[in-house]
This record gives sequence, structure tokens and C-alpha cells, in this order.
Amino acid sequence: KGTLYVVATPIGNLEDLSPRAAGILESVAVIAAEDTRHTARLLKHLGIECSLLSLHEHNEAGRVGQLAAKLDSGEDVALVSDAGTPLISDPGFVLVRALREGGHRIVPVPGPCALVAALSAAGLPTDRFVFNGFLPAKRGARRSSLETLSERGETLVFYESPHRIRDSLEDIAAVLGDRRVVLARELTKTFETFLDGTAEQLLLLMDQDPDQSRGEFVIMVAGAPPRDIDTASLDGKAILQALLA
Ligand code: SAM
Repeated sequence: KGTLYVVATPIGNLEDLSPRAAGILESVAVIAAEDTRHTARLLKHLGIECSLLSLHEHNEAGRVGQLAAKLDSGEDVALVSDAGTPLISDPGFVLVRALREGGHRIVPVPGPCALVAALSAAGLPTDRFVFNGFLPAKRGARRSSLETLSERGETLVFYESPHRIRDSLEDIAAVLGDRRVVLARELTKTFETFLDGTAEQLLLLMDQDPDQSRGEFVIMVAGAPPRDIDTASLDGKAILQALLA
């Protein structure tokens, strides 16, 4: 039986593709890619020729049988997305779940991932974090999504596009207040920038320099501070009685 390799590809800088990833892309019978034209450009850069098959959110379920049959016939398959690690806010989950349930061999080939790169250089706590993917597109849903996270003590991580970065920062300011926010922009690319401040301060920076709202973003927000217990209002006798009971 063949193997499905889940291969991470660069999020900007093409030098980030590992030699192991390149070797695997060269060796497999077929590469299932989110956007075949996009991956064709990467393969051209690497000097690799391989047949490509599209696998995106709209056809993923339909591809499962076809790719399972390839693996059953002993051929290896690679899964890639446009950038970074497949399945991380990218297609692949439906395929990987089905193949794992079917007893196929699935091997990760790790590499770039925007959220990990962003956290590794942000200076916010990384011992525990909550990755939330993209916030909802509509303001109401976005605010309620932020509200459900507002008590979490872990660092909050979001992906965001240039179209909505300002709207999301406005809602973060409104719902989460003046916590520290670190914005990682254009990671591994020429204009890579880390901005650090409250959401309101970052919005002001973007007013002054509109270039700061262009490109791809990872938004990281400090977790909720531990709640102060108001010791003065505690009723010691009542607590003792409850414990004894
Ligand atoms: N699978 C990818 C990964 O492993 O990071 C993420 C794919 S998701 C569709 C695309 C989002 O990831 C972008 O909107 C942005 O939030 C984030 N992203 C991807 N590349 C980035 C980069 N170079 N700098 C900052 N954020 C990036």
C-alpha cells in the first residue's frame, strides 16, 4: 500500500521548503493540491515534474475514493495547500480523516505554519494558546465569537486577511479592551513586520502608515488576566461552614 505524505510548503520565502519535502514531492505519483496552478509554480521553481490533482473544499469529499484507490494500488500521494501546513485553515481534514479510518499510512512532513512562526517571535506566552482560525466575516458574529473567548487565559491566535484586519482590530478593542496585541504581517516575506500594542494603538499606526494594513496577518492577543478575588467581600464563616458541611 502507498503512503499519503502531508507536506508543508512555504508561507512566503521559498527557501523554507525543506529538502525532505522537496524529495517527497519529487518521488510521489501524484500531488493533491489546493490550487494546481499555484503548486505548479512552486514545482517549476524546484525543477520538479509531477502530476497534479486539485483538492479543495468543494471537491475534497469526492476525491477520497480516487486517492484511496491510488494508495491501494501501491502509489504514494502528497497533499499540499497553497501555503504552509495543510489542514491548518486549509483543505485536507476530510481526506486525512477518511484515509486514517480506512487504515492507510499517513506521514506528516512538517514545515512552515504561519501561527507557529508568529507565536515563536511574538513574545506572548506560548505554553498555552487557543488557535481560532479566521474570525467570522460579519461584525455581529465576530463580536460574539470574541465574547466567547473573552475569559480565556491563554494567548488567542487568529488568522486575518487585509480586507478585514481593521474591522477585526476594532472589534478586539471593543470586546477584549486594552490587552496587548501582537500583529505578525507578511511572515518570511520582504515586508515582514511585527507590531505590538493595544488594538487601538495598532489602528492608529495603520492610519499613519496604510502599508501596515496590507498583506497577510496573524493576530495574537494576550489572554484574560487572572481575576482578582475581592477578599474583603468574602464571608469566611460561610465558606468554613460550607466546607465543613
Ligand atoms: N495553512 C496555512 C498555515 O499553515 O499557516 C494557513 C492558510 S490560511 C488559508 C491563510 C492565512 O494564514 C492568511 O490569511 C494569514 O492569516 C495566515 N498567513 C499565511 N501566510 C502568512 C504570512 N506569510 N504572514 C502572515 N500570515 C500568514
